[in-house]
Amino acid sequence: MNYLVSNFIKAVSVPVILIFALFLIVQNGMLDLTVWQELLTQTPMLLFIGAIVVALRFKQSRVIYILLFLLLSWALFVEIDHFKYLNFSPSLWFLSQLFILVLFTFDQNKTIWGRHGLIRALIILAVILVNYRFNQSITLHQFLNTEFIADLHLGGMTQIELVLSVLALLMLAVKHILSPSKTVLNTWVIAFFLVYFKLIDAEVLTHLIAFSVFGLLLIQGVLTDSYQMAFSDELTGLSARRALLQSSISLGKKYTIAMLDVDHFKKFNDTYGHDVGDQVLKLVASKINEIKGGGKAYRYGGEEFTIVFPNKSVNYAIPYLEQVRESIAIYAMTIRDNNERPDDSKTGKSQRSKNDTSSKVVNVTISIGVAEREGDLKDFDQVMKQADEALYRAKQAGRNCLAE
Ligand code: GH3
Ligand code: MG
Ligand code: MG
Repeated sequence: MNYLVSNFIKAVSVPVILIFALFLIVQNGMLDLTVWQELLTQTPMLLFIGAIVVALRFKQSRVIYILLFLLLSWALFVEIDHFKYLNFSPSLWFLSQLFILVLFTFDQNKTIWGRHGLIRALIILAVILVNYRFNQSITLHQFLNTEFIADLHLGGMTQIELVLSVLALLMLAVKHILSPSKTVLNTWVIAFFLVYFKLIDAEVLTHLIAFSVFGLLLIQGVLTDSYQMAFSDELTGLSARRALLQSSISLGKKYTIAMLDVDHFKKFNDTYGHDVGDQVLKLVASKINEIKGGGKAYRYGGEEFTIVFPNKSVNYAIPYLEQVRESIAIYAMTIRDNNERPDDSKTGKSQRSKNDTSSKVVNVTISIGVAEREGDLKDFDQVMKQADEALYRAKQAGRNCLAE
């Protein structure tokens, strides 16, 4: 868990620092944007439309609805005439933004139109209506200004707003930690800056820049997530064969390729079942991914993996490959056995609490074939083929070993 949290902090720190830097530069007048203001007014709109097009293309429906709502926010902030007369309460609208960001981020549904799309559109409409209905409400105003701690003032924010802001940021962070994605990460960054700008009571120009950056962040999120989906293997999380072929284009004159294959895996599947097989593949993949010495791991397909060492010779790569082979051979894998778990949840519970029979320890080994690009071996396919032939020799030699 610690690792996940530090990963999250590492991931958000880059965009947060960059945006802060941009913000400080503008605030301190190092970059005079007033002359650009006319043009800037159009930028968020253009970027948001661009982002909606990209999100539609890659079927990221939750992003579309987030974008639509932020577009509305931006229109309110710059006080476009029609919106100006709505007289929305800034506090209520601020909280509405956080609500929509969190709600739509947790929404897994991919459909854009249809019933689910209609529900999302209705939620947005309901939020707008609530804002319209309660824009001048004294009761609401009093509620938002409730003080838990007397006379504690927090810039442009009431104590209730601060509590809800922290809650929203925490929920988005948890969502990212549970199922990491660039879109969720960038939504967190957007929420963070909405909170920050509310806290410092930012001016229109700041909002213009902020909303332009938000548009870019959402475009980047959609593209990164789509790329990730296309080029990474779902089961193991390693890069997929497609990514290997893509990277082969930019490999230089010298490189080493290793093909790795799990030994007797068919028999393993027959004994323990396909589900256990999948779990083992995941564990094997995580060990392979720990390769040192500049090697990059891919899942070639099935129970076969590839490691590429750019600019490295076979002799350089072998010790690192042997290290991986040994680490897998000595690794006692604890496997959850779903097959033995009774369907009835009641008996399942009582059995599990008596003795934990639903996990067992297994061992697998891998064989490795390795080849280097040199001399007459010019072509990536040829090197792959030679690594494959070496792998065959490793299998012949009794498995759990390496051949070149
Ligand atoms: P060896 O490589 O040592 O010669 O024997 P093997 O049994 O591993 O040989 P082979 O390559 O013919 O068999 C591969 C088996 O791996 C076939 C299939 O049952 C299993 N397999 C391939 N992909 C997957 C997968 O994604 N999940 C699971 N559970 N099994 C897979
Ligand atoms: Mg195989
Ligand atoms: Mg095999």
